[in-house]
Amino acid sequence: MKILYFCILFVLFIFIAAASNAYAATDPNTLDIYVIDTCGGKAMIITTPDGEKMLIDAGYPRPDNRDTKRVIETAKSLGIKEFDYVIATHYDTDHSGNIASVDANIPGKIFFDHGDPIPSFGNRRNRDYDSYINAIGERKRVSVKPGDTIPVKGLKITVVTAGGNAITKPLEGAGKPNEFAAETRPTARADNNIGSIGLLYEFGKFKMLDLADLLAPVEFDLMCPDNKVGTVDLFMVSHHGFQVSNSKFLIHAIAPKTAIMNNGPRKGGEAVVYDIIKSSPGIQDLWQLHYSFAAGQEKNTPEQFIANMEQEQQCQGKMIKVTAKKDGSFTVTNSRNDFSKTYNP
Ligand SMILES: [Zn+2]
Repeated sequence: MKILYFCILFVLFIFIAAASNAYAATDPNTLDIYVIDTCGGKAMIITTPDGEKMLIDAGYPRPDNRDTKRVIETAKSLGIKEFDYVIATHYDTDHSGNIASVDANIPGKIFFDHGDPIPSFGNRRNRDYDSYINAIGERKRVSVKPGDTIPVKGLKITVVTAGGNAITKPLEGAGKPNEFAAETRPTARADNNIGSIGLLYEFGKFKMLDLADLLAPVEFDLMCPDNKVGTVDLFMVSHHGFQVSNSKFLIHAIAPKTAIMNNGPRKGGEAVVYDIIKSSPGIQDLWQLHYSFAAGQEKNTPEQFIANMEQEQQCQGKMIKVTAKKDGSFTVTNSRNDFSKTYNP
């Protein structure tokens, strides 16, 4: 009887330990991506089977350090004491603006960005560039160009856009004519977003495209008339779901199985973008960091795919986690309700 009692306790202990670790890196063979909620900014942590740790943007700088706390809490739960790579996708306040604050708590080793800021923006945005540069100090800074790779062990990361330019030659296995290609290059106000570093992540057969806040003109350079990227499994929706990004000729051509949108309660999530994603060939689901109050009930994805349902003041900062395997399969999990779905290769 005593032995049975002990066995039950032991099983219970294992179960609780596993449950409390659901968002920590448990499988040594997976690529883990933590899409952290910053209410309409961007912050992502990636860990690899080789133990490499990356931070991609860090959300908003705020007097209450909300986003700093969220990034640090996630990093600490993963045992991260420093980041091997820090990427500033572009110099907007909701991306590079908070890197200095996170770095003061969990330092980075090497910093990647697209070089000089895009000319033609105001002083407010220059401050975000300056704070980022000042934070780096004497440490190594690498400014990337399209076609460069970011040398993360066990992972192939190719820079497909940076500084307002796209790769001019197709990636291996890509380069077919894009049947959704636009005939004319869209126009957009030149601002920081157009400089966004766009990255294709390849982990075995798994492919993820994340173009940060890239705007339509550079999407055109990347995708028209030929698709220089090919198809992907997962698309990180650009620019919080604004329609100045996320062109149909991009999303329909890369044909992701699923997409994750880093919208805020009242930022991004525009109706046209919902329509483009939902009609994309082969798309199974759209995940959202927030319910979009701007888009309304009809456009929002079903509730189980949304990490945060509240207005910004009440937001709990729940995240979305992606766990990818080398065979190309991957699982997406909503930390609010533990709902998860696995996508087969
Ligand atoms: Zn942004």
